[in-house]
Amino acid sequence: MQYIELFSDTQTRPTAAMRAAMAAAEVGDEQRMRDPTVNRLRERICTLLGKDDAVFLPSGTMCNEIALAVHCRPGDEVICDATAHVVHFEGGGPAALAGVMARSVHGERGVFGPEAVRGAFRGDNRYAPRSRVVVVEQTANMGGGTVWPLATIESVAAAARECGLVMHLDGARLMNAVVATGVAAARYCAPFDSVWIDFTKGLGAPVGAVLAGDAAFIREAWRIKQRWGGAMRQAGILAAAALHALDHHVERLADDHVNARRLAEGLAALPGIAIDPGSVETNIVIFDVAGTSMTAAAFVAALESCAVGMVATGPGTVRAVTHLDVSADDIEEALRRVGAALVQQARP
Ligand SMILES: *Cc1c(COP(=O)(O)O)cnc(C)c1O
Repeated sequence: MQYIELFSDTQTRPTAAMRAAMAAAEVGDEQRMRDPTVNRLRERICTLLGKDDAVFLPSGTMCNEIALAVHCRPGDEVICDATAHVVHFEGGGPAALAGVMARSVHGERGVFGPEAVRGAFRGDNRYAPRSRVVVVEQTANMGGGTVWPLATIESVAAAARECGLVMHLDGARLMNAVVATGVAAARYCAPFDSVWIDFTKGLGAPVGAVLAGDAAFIREAWRIKQRWGGAMRQAGILAAAALHALDHHVERLADDHVNARRLAEGLAALPGIAIDPGSVETNIVIFDVAGTSMTAAAFVAALESCAVGMVATGPGTVRAVTHLDVSADDIEEALRRVGAALVQQARP
């Protein structure tokens, strides 16, 4: 039985064409700014995201952590959604590396508004941490791949500016939002001081992310990249994969979105599963299994035994993510297997 991997869009393998592009890449010393392929990628990202300068990094996590370390002093506070990646999935990096606290606000499916920023802002008070950065996650991963509407970003940015706060975009899946809405990446990025996109999510590259901002920000980011061992050598091999992804794997994200919506529709029709398919905007489907007789962990284990990969995101919630290694037929087959697993489970 062929395994259907819906655990995450990070699980893709580089295609033959991507591997060929990597093999053919012209390379040099990245940290001396002499890798022509990395430099091409940096320029391409500056244009795409509308920023002055950019730096290639091994991971999205490093983009977030370096950005916070540049923007903040120890003891500062970061305002973000309670579901944010920086809070839950970066090993406590904001505290360990930048020495900052997280002030979680409770948005709707990972999206909060300007009133949340004003409410969390500490003001001029030496008893409290200093509010410093607002983090927006586009799309909101644990919100279920929710797209932050441009107007919401702009109103949050206006509130942040009133309070003297810096705006940082975790754009791990920014291109999913771009493809879902038709809003240009640079428009989404304009209200932010620092932004990044990941190449290892829906874009299907094996390694790499690019962090962008103004020249002074990137100069400081480079200092920390060097300090933390993120400066590379012949990294053009990796940048070539990212460039290939930008050329060939962006528009096709629309297929992932169609597949995710279809998966949600099929799941909604199964007994004990709750999901509103209309809420699925991009490639992430988070659904409720509380109505089955299984916990999320048991549900995921039952699927694993019929060769479908998903992940429990809470006691009663499960996440499935579509990507370029999953076809429309795979989704239909996954739905058949989920249905069979539920029948199997219901048997006394
Ligand atoms: C995956 C992800 C990251 C981290 O990216 P890596 O490249 O895996 O380190 C950060 N933020 C969000 C929203 C993500 O989904």
